[in-house]
Amino acid sequence: MSFSQAIGNLTGESTLLYQEIARRVEKEKGIKTINFGIGQPDVVTFKRIREEAKKALDEGYTGYTPAKGIDELRQKIADFLSQKYGDIIKKDEVIITPGAKTALFLAFLLYINPGDEVILFDPAFYSYAEVVKLLGGKPVYVNINFNKEKGFYIDIDDLNSKITVKTKMIVLNNPHNPTGMVFEPKQIIEIQEIAKERKIILLSDEIYDYFIYEGEMRSVLQDSGWRDYVIYINGFSKTFSMTGWRLGYVVAKKEIIDKMGILAANIYTCPTSFAQKGALAAFDSFDEVKEMIKLFKKRRDVMFSELSKIKSIEVYKSPGAFYIFPNMEEVVKKVGSSKELAIKLIEEAGVITIPGEVFPLNVGKNFLRFSFAIDEDKIKEGVKRIKDVIEKIV
Ligand code: PLP
Repeated sequence: MSFSQAIGNLTGESTLLYQEIARRVEKEKGIKTINFGIGQPDVVTFKRIREEAKKALDEGYTGYTPAKGIDELRQKIADFLSQKYGDIIKKDEVIITPGAKTALFLAFLLYINPGDEVILFDPAFYSYAEVVKLLGGKPVYVNINFNKEKGFYIDIDDLNSKITVKTKMIVLNNPHNPTGMVFEPKQIIEIQEIAKERKIILLSDEIYDYFIYEGEMRSVLQDSGWRDYVIYINGFSKTFSMTGWRLGYVVAKKEIIDKMGILAANIYTCPTSFAQKGALAAFDSFDEVKEMIKLFKKRRDVMFSELSKIKSIEVYKSPGAFYIFPNMEEVVKKVGSSKELAIKLIEEAGVITIPGEVFPLNVGKNFLRFSFAIDEDKIKEGVKRIKDVIEKIV
């Protein structure tokens, strides 16, 4: 029996493959690998959130909820963002989803027709392109350039040149996975202006918005006219270390949220009931979030200084998210590709990194992504092991 044509469009490779290779190497060599490949904070979900969810379970809050999520949580998110961005966002402009990934899926599903073009910045979170292709859309890539002094920046001229009559959507991710960049507010404003003027939907994934170590982040919700063109995505996974709870959300004008509610009801019914109750306490957990960010900043500094000791690579001290994305061109050239380098580092150093190629095209092909959501001793040990292997290569 043949699979659907939609599935045939999927070619991308998930970051999980490298975890699988690591498991094989651990078994074969009897070593413990160090994991710089993870995309989640290593702290357990904060206590009061767990307590709230437990209470909900004990009180029997185990049935379906409304498709768009429970009113209290939608209202909490609306109030929180209203206060943060000085606008009045209403509950009806929020839908809770099973993770930000599902939020993204609903947004693509709502707008992409076969043949529509979707602008992605390259490198990009791998699943954007996969879902666009699944729906018959065409990812069109705009470069994120790298400069050792400035870091990563969006090529606005490239963006302008890639827009056609078929462009339906621009997908922005800020702070950025995999580069760890927080884009300059001026760049975000330029992108917003282009989207508005050319009547293109701006899908903005701001899931790392609390992971900022330096500089200022601009949210697309800071434009008072956002309702005309913005779909805003965020979630609980990263900020509150709730990856397994599967809770994300969308903010958009009511008409969009209503349509998403219909999709939700038909695809997954609702987000998990007691998880939503737990998430109500997330908004009282910002002291814990601050502590976590302080810890991550320290780890980022350690990882940056350790990686900087490897002469043949170019490292930029990322101001956001929990990734460092060094340029390893000299090493990649010797090994063949970033994928081959990542596999070599698992096999010979026992360290997992994610090759830039999976994110998904040209710009990242000489880079590796290192996550610093791991403790300091492991960061030191892992980078030292990598340094030894790399020094033998170059
Ligand atoms: N967006 C980006 C940029 C991510 O890096 C991730 C997770 O790695 C997600 C979305 C998915 O988040 P969630 O766990 O809420 O589905």
